[in-house]
Amino acid sequence: MTITVAIIGSGPAGFYTADALVNGGCDVQVDIIERLPTPYGLIRGGVAPDHQTTKKVARKYEQTALFEQVRYFGNVEVNKDVSLAELREMYDAVVLAVGAPSDRKLTIPGADKAGVHGSAAFVGWYNGHPDFRDLEPDLNIRAAVVIGNGNVALDCARVLVRSREGMAGADIAAHAMAMIETAPLTDVYLTGRRGPLDAKFTNVELRELGELERAVPLARAEQLPDSVPDDMDPRDKRLAERNLANLRDYATNDPDAKPKRIHFEFFAQPVAILGDDRVEAVSFERTRVVDGRAEGTGELFEIPCGLVIAAIGYRSDPIEGAPFDDKAGIIPNRDGRVDDGLYAVGWIKRGPTGVISSNRPDGVTVAEYICQDFKAIAENGGGKPGRAALAPVLEERGVRVVNFDDWKKIEAAEVARAEGSGNPREKFVTVPEMLKVLDA
Ligand code: NAP
Repeated sequence: MTITVAIIGSGPAGFYTADALVNGGCDVQVDIIERLPTPYGLIRGGVAPDHQTTKKVARKYEQTALFEQVRYFGNVEVNKDVSLAELREMYDAVVLAVGAPSDRKLTIPGADKAGVHGSAAFVGWYNGHPDFRDLEPDLNIRAAVVIGNGNVALDCARVLVRSREGMAGADIAAHAMAMIETAPLTDVYLTGRRGPLDAKFTNVELRELGELERAVPLARAEQLPDSVPDDMDPRDKRLAERNLANLRDYATNDPDAKPKRIHFEFFAQPVAILGDDRVEAVSFERTRVVDGRAEGTGELFEIPCGLVIAAIGYRSDPIEGAPFDDKAGIIPNRDGRVDDGLYAVGWIKRGPTGVISSNRPDGVTVAEYICQDFKAIAENGGGKPGRAALAPVLEERGVRVVNFDDWKKIEAAEVARAEGSGNPREKFVTVPEMLKVLDA
């Protein structure tokens, strides 16, 4: 007998789990349930549009979707179209792979002013995620502040200053490119509450800022240490040394070399967003780093700006029917096990850190657990019906399921729309537009 598995979420964690299940030692039937018509989660909606090499992994996910054991149920929202409790009745195992789609909140005074956006929203907007189509950030500004020193902060700063030519070959949403291209923005401040050695930038991403067509990165020599401490973990030390070398280069750059600038501002803890209804400046307190923590020095300074992107990390949302640790922002689990027949993988399991491939081991581990936990039950004929129960329920409720062939039609229409532009696709950015392709 077959073990029936529902995976909720079609991002990297979901697909790695599906792949590990199919290639594991058990007879499985795997259904991937996704709220949007389009698959691939962060690959489509999070990874920067000018990082097409990273997005190529979607081809591997496509191979997984095409296994005969796997079926894609797009445009199906759990706890709206079908509840988690119902899925647990229908399937032997349910795997939560829903990621961390929300922003960690900036809680300083003024953070609710117009012109302040979280990075999940801003990244979703430029990537054409339907949830953020209407964000329409006001880019009729001269300066922007990005808060945070992670790779998402780098992505936001870089995308803000790119030109249409620089974005050739990317799949940025058309509405975002049009606004970014014509924005009078000249200065982006990339601010970190700690120092250059504490930044979470990876080398390639930091180096990339030195190669932009119309922006020059600038660091301040007096904020850069002479060397990296010897007692650092060797891997972290190598990363910090390379980042420091890049920042030293950036400290010698000519601010007028290109029309736009990205300024690194370290030791800067945001304390308030200033302005009337709209942001006009960010007030910072200068810090020093003591035992790895930012400590305020009492010195305040302001950076005038018309836009703030808080790239201070993502957060998972609670799911009705599953436990949630609100403080940690994850589903409490033991190495991916949540409850009988309920598992978690990816960012909802361990928090929003790591690169795309970091999700693979989560999937492998949970696939092994599922195989162990259900092999005997399935062999004794006790398995649950899986899709044989789900499909009629969705039909009865009038849910318009987008299957993988449907997605391929939507994708083909996106590719056709981009023909002649040199870009891989022009995304549809609303669900009705996507579904209309299927009606044609
Ligand atoms: P991240 O790497 O955790 O960085 C978050 C940044 O926000 C840190 O600099 C952190 O400072 C700062 N921060 C947090 N709370 C703050 C507060 N209240 N005030 C001021 N600063 C605050 O998160 P991320 O940039 O969202 O990235 C998420 C994951 O995706 C990371 O693992 C990242 O590497 C990965 N990613 C990778 C790529 C790529 O490989 N190209 C691209 C995008 C994302 P502290 O360090 O002081 O806490």
